[in-house]
Amino acid sequence: MRINALPSGNGFNFEISHAPEKSLARVGKISTPHGDIATPAFIPVGTKATVKAVLPETMKELGAQALLSNAYHLYLQPGPDVLDEAGGLARFMNWPGPTFTDSGGFQVLSLGVGFKKVLAMDAQTFRSDDVIAGNKERLAHVDDEGVTFKSHIDGSMHRFTPEVSMQVQHKIGADIIFAFDECTTLHNTRKYQEKALERTRLWGIRCLDEHQKLTLERSEKPYQALYGVIQGAQYEDLRKKAATDMAALRSTDPDAPIGFDGFGLGGALDKKTLGTILTWMNEILPAQKPRHLLGIGAPEDLFIGVENGIDTFDCVLASRIARTSAVYTMVGRNNLSNAINRRAFEPIDDECDCYTCTHYTKAYLHHVFRGKEIIAATLATIHNERFIVRLVDQMRAALISGDYFEFKEQFMGRYKHLSGQARD
Ligand SMILES: [Zn+2]
Repeated sequence: MRINALPSGNGFNFEISHAPEKSLARVGKISTPHGDIATPAFIPVGTKATVKAVLPETMKELGAQALLSNAYHLYLQPGPDVLDEAGGLARFMNWPGPTFTDSGGFQVLSLGVGFKKVLAMDAQTFRSDDVIAGNKERLAHVDDEGVTFKSHIDGSMHRFTPEVSMQVQHKIGADIIFAFDECTTLHNTRKYQEKALERTRLWGIRCLDEHQKLTLERSEKPYQALYGVIQGAQYEDLRKKAATDMAALRSTDPDAPIGFDGFGLGGALDKKTLGTILTWMNEILPAQKPRHLLGIGAPEDLFIGVENGIDTFDCVLASRIARTSAVYTMVGRNNLSNAINRRAFEPIDDECDCYTCTHYTKAYLHHVFRGKEIIAATLATIHNERFIVRLVDQMRAALISGDYFEFKEQFMGRYKHLSGQARD
């Protein structure tokens, strides 16, 4: 049944085909100039225009529909001009499908302050606002105009503003790009959250203006869809305000004001309240526009996202833990380096259809991890990415067939919790 379509002549479109009752979940299709994405979908992360250790062809074979790279990293190296000259991100990295880029806001704001640990909910290590605002050691300074930061590569100084983020992301040329936002932590004060939220709203208007200008100037390039980012930390009124504001935001062009093509749900999210916070936002955001949950990818969180109205997810966790020999299985996480795997002449997971599981044993993987062979990262990453991509594919199939909650119960009954939220 076709419920909602957003007509569009620019190559970007989102269409919902199923919206089961009793939840905010939906099944749909995002169309981009580089191809379609059946949603809900997990989008693997290739931070620097590469999913570490795995060829793009292999990512395609294992079922990845799109990849997400990072504007901050690509801005520093090789530089947006190189990507522009190469014909855009997808062509540059030989990826035959849609791409996303993160705005760079999260990365520049998190420089040198251990932000990733905060996102991993390591509450003891941090206190305060001053994670962003007062630490003498910090490598990033935020003001109303933008963020000044020090490159983690060579220490050189740079400045990102909403306009710069749009210029960089237009040159990189991904199909879906994100507005520049101020990402806060759960430890900022309420007052600071309010200030950051208003800043993100004003930056959203500047992003829309610059995006509109660049889209017109570069009309020969494939259309890029711009998603606004919803912040507001753990506060119900702030999350709802952000969702209301960002849904209504328009560029200042009096003749043809434009709004966002979709929305990114961001910020520090506590695992326990994830579902509730997503509901606050998704009950307000326009149903016909796609929603991306930034940096979330642990299996139990993916279920919560899907049933609370998320269409796409990205997370570096699957590939990052793979390189440390940690792999997902139907019964929880396994560490291939553990001695128990030395003579385990069986696949990582009997039920997995990935290339690694159909050709290699845990004993072999144990051996190559212990020997620090490069192939270890490749084989483990293939398995983990396939595991997560397939899990979301299975959720989509279960939503269509009407047995989503049975599928969830069956999966979670066997799976032991593995925590994680991670952006790169
Ligand atoms: Zn596998």
